[in-house]
Amino acid sequence: MQAIVFDNPGDESVLQLGHVPMPGIDAHTVRIKVEAAGVNRADIMQRLGQYPPPAGSSPILGLEAAGTIAEVGSACTDDWKVGDRVMALCSGGAYAEQVVVDAGSLLKVPDSWTMIEAAGFMEVTLTAYLNIFQIGGAEKGKSVLIHGGGSGVGSQAIALCKAKGITTFVTAGSDEKCERCLQRGASYVLNYKTENVVDLVKGMTKGKGVDVILDCVGAPYLERNLECLGMDGKVVYIGVMGGAVAEKANLGILLKKRASLIGSTLRNRSLAFKANLVQNLRKDFADERKRGDIKPIIDKVLPLESAGDAHRRMASSTHFGKIILNVKP
Ligand code: NAP
Repeated sequence: MQAIVFDNPGDESVLQLGHVPMPGIDAHTVRIKVEAAGVNRADIMQRLGQYPPPAGSSPILGLEAAGTIAEVGSACTDDWKVGDRVMALCSGGAYAEQVVVDAGSLLKVPDSWTMIEAAGFMEVTLTAYLNIFQIGGAEKGKSVLIHGGGSGVGSQAIALCKAKGITTFVTAGSDEKCERCLQRGASYVLNYKTENVVDLVKGMTKGKGVDVILDCVGAPYLERNLECLGMDGKVVYIGVMGGAVAEKANLGILLKKRASLIGSTLRNRSLAFKANLVQNLRKDFADERKRGDIKPIIDKVLPLESAGDAHRRMASSTHFGKIILNVKP
């Protein structure tokens, strides 16, 4: 089958369309004929050699895909049949014509969704859901600060929070992205290059602070996050795009606010954990999924062989929402 391959880590030019053996299934997995695959920041890190795939995962890039089931393992439940339209959370392998996925990592594609939309759903939505709702404990009436509102994860986080009546404070790197975050349903937005997030959060919450912060920036935001946090608040770290080593922070604030700083990754969780997460998301957001309220925003669709261009666009941070690779010939 065709897949995007690279021999050595490097810049976007190392990504080439190549031929690799078709992946085989086992009893608990299904093989999907991929129609489209989502591009994620983690793919760039993997290409650069900074994020090796977990043991047992495909070395091929790609954490989410949509397509039709081509083969079902003997121990899979009757829920899955050849020909079903599915979207999948992959631990790798989605930049290819076929991918093998644990049956617990699948959801049916709602009838009103395109395969392109479905391809950009699983990785980013499950990340937002896990960290804001399950770990962060957000619920109706609470408030969440989302950094990187124009990212794949951030734009889904806004939609999930809006659906559940949660107030969101959202940061992004341009006025245009801020406007789009508002259109997506953010309560308050802020261009972090020109405005101060602490002033906004303290002003709008009357000094109370937010309940949960979803942070993909890391060290440079630590002090500001602690200032924005309310009593018993939680900061959930899902990335360190701005740096991993914090040189200065007042830990006294942690005590005073009984605050929690939590690190979180989805990819290296067990298959059982992921299956449980998928089922909880399915139940908690069933109506929103059906209505299309939480369809991802599609920024750009490129053919599979242009994976390098897709990575260039993502690295430039000019995108809003999801960049998708169209795999179907
Ligand atoms: P994405 O679509 O590429 O978006 C990332 C956005 O973050 C950029 O567009 C940029 O927008 C902003 N950004 C980049 N560098 C920044 C910096 N130094 N300071 C502030 N903002 C910066 O990314 P994604 O695929 O949705 O992933 C978002 C983050 O979540 C990544 O860090 C990724 O590694 C992480 N992630 C973690 C998990 C997990 O399980 N832990 C799972 C999925 C994703 P602006 O124009 O606003 O700067």
